[in-house]
Amino acid sequence: MDNEERAEAVRIVMALKKKYPAFVRNHQRHLELMIPPYADRVTAVCPPTQAILSLYLEENQFTTPFCCHGNDVECNRCGAWVVFHSAAKMEQMGLVNWEANG
Ligand code: SF4
Repeated sequence: MDNEERAEAVRIVMALKKKYPAFVRNHQRHLELMIPPYADRVTAVCPPTQAILSLYLEENQFTTPFCCHGNDVECNRCGAWVVFHSAAKMEQMGLVNWEANG
């Protein structure tokens, strides 16, 4: 799935949310932030990396991966719930404005 296909999938979820609001748990803003032009702005910052310490157990010691999904990730394709949920919450709290370009 490329990013345009993903955006279309998110738009379908947004339409489903309108029809079945109790079934789709994601907040509307969370979904909006998953599509252009916001998705790249959010993943460039990745809010959870500022609040979550990911630990992997390798042999008998902890190591810290690039993110909770590992070291081999493509941030511009990320759809992690925690990323976009926390981005929406940060905006709601006035900590960030995703409307601002750059
Ligand atoms: S892949 Fe990992 S670091 Fe990149 S945006 Fe997603 S959660 Fe953040």
